[in-house]
Amino acid sequence: MGGRKPFIAGNWKMFKTVGEAVRTAKELSDRVSDAPDVDIMIAPNFTALAAVHDALGESTVMLGGQNLFWESEGAFTGETSPVMLRDAGCRYVIIGHSERRQYFGETDETVRKKVKAALENGLAPILCVGETENERETKKTFSVLDKQIQNGLKDLLSDELGPLVIAYEPVWAIGTGKTASREQAQEVHRFLRSVIETMFGNELANAIRIQYGGSVKPNNIKALMEMPDVDGALVGGASLDAEIFSRILHFQH
Ligand code: PEP
Repeated sequence: MGGRKPFIAGNWKMFKTVGEAVRTAKELSDRVSDAPDVDIMIAPNFTALAAVHDALGESTVMLGGQNLFWESEGAFTGETSPVMLRDAGCRYVIIGHSERRQYFGETDETVRKKVKAALENGLAPILCVGETENERETKKTFSVLDKQIQNGLKDLLSDELGPLVIAYEPVWAIGTGKTASREQAQEVHRFLRSVIETMFGNELANAIRIQYGGSVKPNNIKALMEMPDVDGALVGGASLDAEIFSRILHFQH
């Protein structure tokens, strides 16, 4: 892993009331009190962020938002700013998840503005990229990913990208029970690192953490994490249950 600390994040999507989110966060925090050697983040729904932040207290479990808008404040009904995410206790924010690209019109250009706004406001962006099944079958995986990274990080400087995390999430593997093989994941992660190297140089390419996402479960995390360019995971369904997510976080045990 080239000295990169593993980073495993849970995306709770549009699940859990405030009470349910608080209960799950507390249980998770208890289950990782033995401090596994991994950075841990959960991204509850916006309505639960502040309450989960309070519930986590001094826990090592960190908080992330699932999306943001790039302005700090203003007449933007329904949106949440980076300043507000910070205020609610977030350190990370997921940007460009395939569900947002698919259902909410997210483009590489809006992704770029959001990545920039996150960085400017002290939030570490988790930039999601990934190809559809059709794109993989028609051998467009690398060109699609290259475009998502090139356009999503256009005009940003290597100096400001230190906190950036990339999540490789093949769309065909999200919520489907299909996982990329660890060889497929490694091949893509290596490619993504090479794109970062071409754009921003060797130092950032070696330091940047690249998560795999797509039906990660307790029974496949270890094999994925053994690959040299897989630095962590972005977990959807299996992060909703504290006991199951905790088993993923303890993959080294
Ligand atoms: C995700 O939503 O980012 C994800 C990877 O979901 P799942 O783990 O459920 O496939």
